[in-house]
Amino acid sequence: MFDNAAFAGHESVHHFFDAKTGLRAIIAIHSTVRGPGAGGCRMWNYATGDEAFTDALRLSEGMSYKNAMADLPLGGGKAVIWGNSKTQKTPELFRALGRAIETLQGKYWSAEDVGVSPADMAYAAEETKYVAGLSKGKAASGDPSPITARGVFLGIKACAQRAFGTDDLSGRHVAVQGVGHVGGRVCGLLAEAGAKLTIADVNPETLAAIAGSTGAQVVMADEIYDVNADIFSPNALGATVNPGTIGRIRAKVIAGGANNQLSTPDMGEELSERGILYAPDYVINGGGIINVAAEISGAYDPAWVEGKVQRLVKTLGEVLDQAKSEKRATNRVADEIALRRIVESR
Ligand code: NAD
Repeated sequence: MFDNAAFAGHESVHHFFDAKTGLRAIIAIHSTVRGPGAGGCRMWNYATGDEAFTDALRLSEGMSYKNAMADLPLGGGKAVIWGNSKTQKTPELFRALGRAIETLQGKYWSAEDVGVSPADMAYAAEETKYVAGLSKGKAASGDPSPITARGVFLGIKACAQRAFGTDDLSGRHVAVQGVGHVGGRVCGLLAEAGAKLTIADVNPETLAAIAGSTGAQVVMADEIYDVNADIFSPNALGATVNPGTIGRIRAKVIAGGANNQLSTPDMGEELSERGILYAPDYVINGGGIINVAAEISGAYDPAWVEGKVQRLVKTLGEVLDQAKSEKRATNRVADEIALRRIVESR
């Protein structure tokens, strides 16, 4: 563990195996300095255990940064289940995960992530109270996507203000990649604000539904990079800003909800050299974890959530302004601020 490039000073990493259900899970706790490590549970069919381990390390570190930038009393943690989410999910598997989480006695709070639904996590919650993002319960916060999308929309406006001198999006052309839970809602908010939309998704049904409700123009999935738009909003997978795509992006702003948008951190410098304003992903997409944090606090309060989202958008603006004045990449400035917040909480 200590030699792994993704180690990054993690406090602890826990491996769980349950012979009866076949559960193979890793829970990585990067930091509990600001509060319990919090981050969702991902189920993925990794090629090797090493890959699962590295993913858990990388994701839990990312959650420390995200939670710090959203100014939440939470540290960073993440669970991964090594398995096929299409064929290997059972209620018993998630109950076993719940028992694993319970052994950590609140050092780690879980929720859903890729491959895991609120319904799956409800089984885990039968065995432990350290699960949030549920649809039922005392402080249930439900699907975080609407709040994530609201944060992304407000973040796009903050970027537009800096790149175009106005946050008025009417007539602004936005290319949206991925129109699922987050991207679809971002499209709705953009359309309401009068933006012109071009959208792409690999799921034809979702694509048709969002095109129908927003009047967006549709392009093939790979063509979204070449659209002559003002703003590119990635809301699908990670690593979509990479050496193969960066030269094709014609937008002046990249701002979207997807996690890990840059294939490597140095893409940030490349974007800044190309005059493209990049909203660091884990800052602009922090609305969802704010919503989950409200549930963890034990009393869901929509006004508290809205206040935190507004504050997050201000923080995004501060990152963008500092990067501009110091002529640095926005992702580097965000990392620095997040790390400082974690260190200062000690
Ligand atoms: P989702 O699965 O509902 O939506 C993703 C969409 O992207 C799907 O419609 C899928 O068909 C599409 N897609 C996949 N590959 C694509 C490709 N190559 N080109 C175009 N479209 C493609 O997921 P979501 O909850 O909307 O999350 C989207 C992103 O936002 C993910 O990266 C997720 O990690 C991140 N995120 C989500 C939340 C949240 O609250 N849901 C919070 C923070 C970050």
